[in-house]
Amino acid sequence: MLELPEVEVLRRDLEKEIVGKRVKDVIVQTASIVRPFHRTRPELVKALEGRKVEAVRRRGTVLFIDLDEDLTWVIDAGDEGSLHRETASEQPGADTHLVVTFTIGGAIHLSEVGGDPSISTGVVPTEEALEAAGVSPDALDPLDDNPTWMEFGRFLADAHGPLKLVLTDPARIAGLGPVYSDEILWEAGLRHDRASASLSTQEIRRLYRAMQEVLVAAMKAAGSSLDEVEVDAAIDDEGEAAEHLRVFGRAGLPCSRCRKPILRTRIKKGVYTYHCDQCMI
Ligand SMILES: [Zn+2]
Repeated sequence: MLELPEVEVLRRDLEKEIVGKRVKDVIVQTASIVRPFHRTRPELVKALEGRKVEAVRRRGTVLFIDLDEDLTWVIDAGDEGSLHRETASEQPGADTHLVVTFTIGGAIHLSEVGGDPSISTGVVPTEEALEAAGVSPDALDPLDDNPTWMEFGRFLADAHGPLKLVLTDPARIAGLGPVYSDEILWEAGLRHDRASASLSTQEIRRLYRAMQEVLVAAMKAAGSSLDEVEVDAAIDDEGEAAEHLRVFGRAGLPCSRCRKPILRTRIKKGVYTYHCDQCMI
């Protein structure tokens, strides 16, 4: 499960690795990953082959790789996808859905374990890329937009909803999911069901600072190398929470601030929050 900090780490690594290189070969193993951008696999192959990489951008958890000819290669790793660098001769594994090799050495493999991949990738005109990727143009990206705390306060006041649902609503904030929304609220000491418009100035500043601190710490924890290992997700394939997490995935374990057991509470169908009843108010 990749959220904003892990995808930002990927973006930085990709920027160092592939900008200036030209795409040599494209192998699409699984037809469904080219939708909704293309109808068939050969369409993606034709659009990517020979193109030169000019920049690597990100919005929320979607990567936008700008190519020459005013085209952009969109990569949405979905719920469980991962991206890693391989040598050009490395054969695709059973879970590899896309292999892109470059003229000056190296390749990128896009993988996802399981039968029906949630990965989605394609090439579109740059000016249409955000819309084609389904990224809300109005959603705040906490890293990319770098809002001031006052801007963030106005955003919370306008959002009108419980904090957990505001933080995880992709129409409002790009790239925060179940993991870091809980971590940010714990760090800020604010309950998930507090109305976003009800926060005091002090609480807004606390939430703002918590968001920055949690995202920076998560980027450090994600590692920073596409070499052989992929960027570490906060939750591994076995559902095990990474060490840098303070509440997510830690139900029953003592809160590291007050020692009371962490609770896991259902908010609505399929949405849970990990929190501490004692020190989140
Ligand atoms: Zn606590």
